Amino acid sequence: MQQDFNQKNIQELTLKEQWINVLKKLNNEYGNEVFNSWIKNITVKNIEGETIFFNVPTRFIRDWITSHYLDKIIYFLNIENPEIKRVKINIDNSLSANMLSIEGSEQRKSNFAGALTSNYSKEDWPLDERFMFEKFVVGKSNEMAFASAKALASSGNYEFNPLYICGGVGLGKTHLMHAIAWHIKANNPNSRVIYLSAERFMFQFIKSLRQKDTMSFKHKIRSADILILDDIQFMIGKTSTQEEFFHTFNSLIDSNKNVVVSSDRAPSELSSFDDRMKSRLGGGLIVDILPSTYELRHSILLQKYSELKLKNPGSFTLEDSILDFLAKTITANIRELEGALNKIFTFSNILGKKIDLEITKSVLKDLLKSSSKRITIEEIQNKVSNYYNINNEDLISSKRIRSFARPRQVAMYLSKKLTTRSLPEIGRKFGGRDHTTVIHAVKKIEELKNSNSKYDEDINLITQMITSL
Ligand code: ADP
Ligand code: MG
Repeated sequence: MQQDFNQKNIQELTLKEQWINVLKKLNNEYGNEVFNSWIKNITVKNIEGETIFFNVPTRFIRDWITSHYLDKIIYFLNIENPEIKRVKINIDNSLSANMLSIEGSEQRKSNFAGALTSNYSKEDWPLDERFMFEKFVVGKSNEMAFASAKALASSGNYEFNPLYICGGVGLGKTHLMHAIAWHIKANNPNSRVIYLSAERFMFQFIKSLRQKDTMSFKHKIRSADILILDDIQFMIGKTSTQEEFFHTFNSLIDSNKNVVVSSDRAPSELSSFDDRMKSRLGGGLIVDILPSTYELRHSILLQKYSELKLKNPGSFTLEDSILDFLAKTITANIRELEGALNKIFTFSNILGKKIDLEITKSVLKDLLKSSSKRITIEEIQNKVSNYYNINNEDLISSKRIRSFARPRQVAMYLSKKLTTRSLPEIGRKFGGRDHTTVIHAVKKIEELKNSNSKYDEDINLITQMITSL
C-alpha cells in the first residue's frame, strides 16, 4: 500500500516533504534522544540522479550517523522516493559554527559531541574519533578482546573486574579502550568515564602532589563510573604513584565500578608492581590480543582503503595484489600497516597514476627493510621443525622420506615468502641445494595450499608463529 501511495504522489511531493516523512519515521524508530543528538543535525541539500546529498556540521557526526543510522535512513528514503539509492554526506563547517552559537539551548545540551567538549577539556577526553567499535575489524586474534570490551561497554556493570587487555604494540589495545569510552558516553552521556594513559595518570598525580592538592585528584578519579588506564606497564618505579593507583583501584573495584587496563604484558610480568597489585590486576578477566593473521590484516586494509576512497573520490585504485603484498609483508604492527597503506595511497595520487608492486616496494623500502629484518631462514627452519615435530638436522638433510621432505619444502617456501633472500641463498641454507629445488618447493607448496586447506592452515599458523617473534 505504501508503494501505491508513493507512486501516485511521488511527483507532487517535494524533496522537503519527503524528508519530513523520513524524519518522522526515524524519530519513531530511534526515539527523541538519538533523534535530537544525531539525526537532527542533518540538512538535506539536493538530489542528483540516484544520490541524495546531506550536510552535517562535523566529521564526527558524519561518521557516527554513517555507522549507526545510515542503513535505516536509506531504507526510509527509499520508501519515499524509490529512485534514491545512495546518500552522500558532506561536512559543512558553517553548521558547526551555528551549533556552537546556540550553546545552552536544548539542542546543544542533547548533542553528544557538544556535551563532551563542553563538559570535558581535551586533556580529560583525549579520545580519537576514529577509534570506535564500528571501525574495529574483528578476526580470530582479537575476537575475545573485542567481545569483552563490547560487553563491558554495553553493560552497566560488567561482572569481570578489572578487564585486562593484553597485547603487543600496535595491535589495537588503545583502539578498543577508546571505543569503550565512546560507547558508554554515547549511550549514557552523564556517566563519568575517565580515560588516562598510565603516564598521564602519573603526571597528574605528581602535579597534584606538587600543588599539595592530592585530595581533588583522588576525588576526581574515585568518582569515576569507569576508569580506563592505558599502557600500565609504564607506571614504573614511582612507589607513591603506584600506592595511590592501588588505593584508587581498590576503591573503584570495591564499589563495583568498572576498571579497564591495558598492557603489553601479563599482570605477573609487570615487574615493577608489587605482588598484591599484580594479583588484583589479574583478578578479573584477562584477554589477549594475539599477533594478527593474514586474513585480519587483509580485511583491515580493505576497510581502511575503502575509507580512503570515500574521502578521496576520484583517487587512483590500488590493485588487490598490492594490499595482499602489504598484508603479507607488514605483519607485526597494524599501525605500520596502516601507515604503509596511507603512504602508497598518497604517493599514487601525487604521482597521478596507478601504482604497481615495484613502485610499492621502492616507496616502502625502509619500512619493509625493518619489517623483514627480524625474520631469518634459521628462525623459519626452527619453527617449521618444531611444528612438524622433527629435528632441525633432518629438515636440512638430504633424506627424502616424505615426513622430512614436505616440511623442508614448507620451510623453503616460507623462506622465499618471508625473507628477502635470493633463491640460491635459500638453497645454500638447506644443505647446499640448487636454486631449482627451491623453485620446485615453492611451486609444490603453492599447489598444495590451493588444493588442500590443511596445508593452507598449517602454513598460516607457522607464518603467524614466525612473524610474531
Ligand atoms: P596499541 O594500543 O595496541 O599499541 P592501537 O590501538 O594504537 O594499538 O592501534 C594501532 C593502529 O592500528 C590504530 O590506528 C588502530 O585503529 C589500528 N588497528 C589496530 N587493530 C585494528 C583492528 N582490528 N581494526 C581496525 N584498526 C585497527
Ligand atoms: Mg596503545
